[in-house]
Amino acid sequence: MTFHNTLSDLPKAELGFFPTPIMPLKNLSRHLGGPEILIKRDDLTGLALGGNKTRKLEFIFGEAIKKGSDSVITAGAQQSNHCRQTAAAAAQLGLECHLLLGGIQPAQINGNLFLDKLFGAHIHWTKEHRKGEDIPSVQEALVAQDKNPYVIPYGGSNELGACGFVNAGMELSEQLDYHSLSHIFFASSSGGTHAGLMIAKSMLNASFNLVGVQIDKDELEGCSFKAQVNELANRTCHFLGLDICYEEGEVVLDNRYLGGGYGVIGTAEQHAIELLAHTEGILLDPVYTARAMAALIDLVQSGELDKTKQVLFWHTGGSPSLFSYANKFD
Ligand SMILES: *Cc1c(COP(=O)(O)O)cnc(C)c1O
Repeated sequence: MTFHNTLSDLPKAELGFFPTPIMPLKNLSRHLGGPEILIKRDDLTGLALGGNKTRKLEFIFGEAIKKGSDSVITAGAQQSNHCRQTAAAAAQLGLECHLLLGGIQPAQINGNLFLDKLFGAHIHWTKEHRKGEDIPSVQEALVAQDKNPYVIPYGGSNELGACGFVNAGMELSEQLDYHSLSHIFFASSSGGTHAGLMIAKSMLNASFNLVGVQIDKDELEGCSFKAQVNELANRTCHFLGLDICYEEGEVVLDNRYLGGGYGVIGTAEQHAIELLAHTEGILLDPVYTARAMAALIDLVQSGELDKTKQVLFWHTGGSPSLFSYANKFD
């Protein structure tokens, strides 16, 4: 006999404020000449200036606490939002936090890195490794000190993290008539957001197009991002006991907006940040949400997206890193 996990039975740490609001971007829609654009404000999840990782970390920390862990280890880029939110959650819940950040210690500490330090995280610089390649060695060192560390993968994208976004899709369905949406756009990188929303879409039998805008060029261990999302979605279905199996071709990932690569702000991203700030008073982040919004703007302007439809932009957070890019704006 097999026992399956259901969302409501999973242990959960309360880290954020939900549901996050949905609002129309009337000025932006008018500026672009349609479509009607709604925004889901996951930049307002509340934990340490918000972001999509709060949803993943609620389930991940729920499990870590259930297992009696006294510390967590995770990894990311120097300006990782996932690491900042993990550090804050660990502080709130009284766990030691170890962050493996790509690169070397910069001369100037700002944005998310400054916040990581404020939350008391231990930082390990891992040079060209920004996706958790060195986690096992830090884990071993902590175990040798009689600690009981819990490993959170890069981006918080495992089955538990994806469950946060299955939940998010259900939350959305209670807030609006999702049958009238033609598209949902969001920034997709480590895949947990994407996999979770795909499953929610299936569970709701929804017809909107779920479009992940690919952020990162660098594929992990020769595995394409599409394959990664597909694999995580199937693993999560199995974990939840759902009789769903996706094919890689069902993952919609738009890879035309990679720009200068991960974390490189270009004119499209800068324009999107300025446009949202000027028209709506809303902040986007330079790495993820500005790239996804730039894609949405381009799809409207090129005519690829029908201007008579209603679409939703899922704001996944990230604004603290904006400050570390201030000198890139003219
Ligand atoms: C991590 C992150 C994403 C991407 O989410 P994944 O689940 O890793 O694909 C998008 N936007 C922001 C602001 C993020 O921090």
